[in-house]
Amino acid sequence: MITGKNYIGNSLSAKGTQTYKTVNPKLNSDNEWDFTEATEAEVDEAAQKATEAFAVYKQKTDKERAAFLRAIAAEIEALGQEVIAAYTAESGLPEGRAMGERGRTIGQLNSFAALLEQGDWVQATIDYGNPERTPAPKPDLRKMQIAVGPVAVFGASNFPFAFSTAGGDTASALAAGCPVIVKSHPMHAGTGELVSSAIIKAAEKTGMPDGVFSNLNSKGITVGEQLVKHPAIKAVGFTGSIKAGTALTKLGAGRKEPIPVYAEMGSINPVVILPEALKANGEAWAQKYAGSINLGAGQFCTNPGLILGIEGAELDTFGKHLAAALGQQPANCMLHPNIHSSYESGKQKMLDANGTEVLAVALEAEGANDGKPALVKVTADDFLANPELHTEVFGPFSMLVACASKAQLLEVLNTLEGQLTGSLIAEAAEVSAYTDVIDALRSRVGRILFNGVPTGVEVCPAMHHGGPFPSTSDAKFTSVGNDAIYRWVRPVSYQDWPQELLPEALKDGNPLGILRKVDGIYSKA
Ligand code: NAP
Repeated sequence: MITGKNYIGNSLSAKGTQTYKTVNPKLNSDNEWDFTEATEAEVDEAAQKATEAFAVYKQKTDKERAAFLRAIAAEIEALGQEVIAAYTAESGLPEGRAMGERGRTIGQLNSFAALLEQGDWVQATIDYGNPERTPAPKPDLRKMQIAVGPVAVFGASNFPFAFSTAGGDTASALAAGCPVIVKSHPMHAGTGELVSSAIIKAAEKTGMPDGVFSNLNSKGITVGEQLVKHPAIKAVGFTGSIKAGTALTKLGAGRKEPIPVYAEMGSINPVVILPEALKANGEAWAQKYAGSINLGAGQFCTNPGLILGIEGAELDTFGKHLAAALGQQPANCMLHPNIHSSYESGKQKMLDANGTEVLAVALEAEGANDGKPALVKVTADDFLANPELHTEVFGPFSMLVACASKAQLLEVLNTLEGQLTGSLIAEAAEVSAYTDVIDALRSRVGRILFNGVPTGVEVCPAMHHGGPFPSTSDAKFTSVGNDAIYRWVRPVSYQDWPQELLPEALKDGNPLGILRKVDGIYSKA
């Protein structure tokens, strides 16, 4: 049942006087529940409990934390239809998407559990000492990763399950051994509360300390700011706009004890389509890309918002095919009236901008918050002259840029800001003539695709979902896949410690049977 209260550790709490409601964007009306805005005292309480919980939680073995994560997955599944109904009522996304995203969320939790059960993730490294070394003896050094402490997680509007309450940030932080305080996304606070109840149940069932998880409701920015500034918080996970992500990153860096804010923000995900590919398969690529641009009403961080080609008859034909295919796409309900209105105004700016030619724009839609797809074309000269054209329009919008030559294509790529993804559409025979273009594209992105669409982010160890600023605040880390755990840990070296006082992962004889780097050689021995 949704109560509208905050979870301060295992207890429900509603000390504040301000309440707010979520919106059903399909019906364009408020949902029934009232959520109580968390107070500063509740932020403090959650932080205090998280600090106390950390002392206990960090002592839990990897296997105990794995059992906790698997229990969260089971409890989320046990929420059944109630959470699916809340998700659809608060996001306007269809039930199929809700079920798929819940499956992905459960999969992520279980995947971190498997990582912990295997144990290698601590990156144990041993360099044996040598008392005989001259001129000075070599000390015995043993290094591994340990948890940083309580983490604050901001739920994302566009993934109420997979990037929110029990999403990748929370799952990876809990896996690392860090208590988590979630600042619930105000657009889906009810979904967030139900998922929180599942996490609390799992914590109680598996003997985790009170305070290992808290969920704070908030519609304004104050609670988020208080959390990031709170001395108990040691790192932050965020997914959302460039404006909010950079504000929080600055806040984290400006503290007396600076902390990292791992923010995933804006990306227009450039696609380079080469001449031979246009000739051979232009129409098929147009069909594929129309589906990718409009997928989930374009509300994916990997949405292809920029398509670059070299001008000519083939690029013109491709533009026509893409416009026609996009014209056949339905207008889908967006997440919230605010997201819908920012989409409409952002799109209008692009349609009105100097030099843009409108290739497709849907005018009709059934629902008040349906995002009507659009495609514009611009010359690279105009694109280079107007940085406004480089900004993200969050929704089913894309821009085709016609470059006069390969040299100008390179110039455009070299002026782009950092991106999550870059895609190359090419025929095998033409690739060798574009190695400089490929290098320029790679220098801008965290994931480079060959003959594919960037939407659809596989959750697996080799995935890197993070790129140069402003797509993320730190390109070295991913927020998808098991390596997301490394945002919440730091290495520590033990020098000359007796065996009995070393952590199991670093003891002689390798009692955990994990893969370690011993005197430079990987081994399970
Ligand atoms: P947002 O505005 O970035 O907000 C995300 C979260 O951060 C919310 O909980 C928000 O709280 C909080 N917040 C915002 N500004 C803050 C600040 N200065 N200090 C502290 N906390 C702050 O994102 P959104 O509401 O989800 O969507 C708005 C726009 O963000 C979209 O239209 C889209 O352009 C972009 N977005 C991009 C992605 C992506 O993956 N690239 C994903 C989602 C959204 P309140 O809402 O309570 O103010």
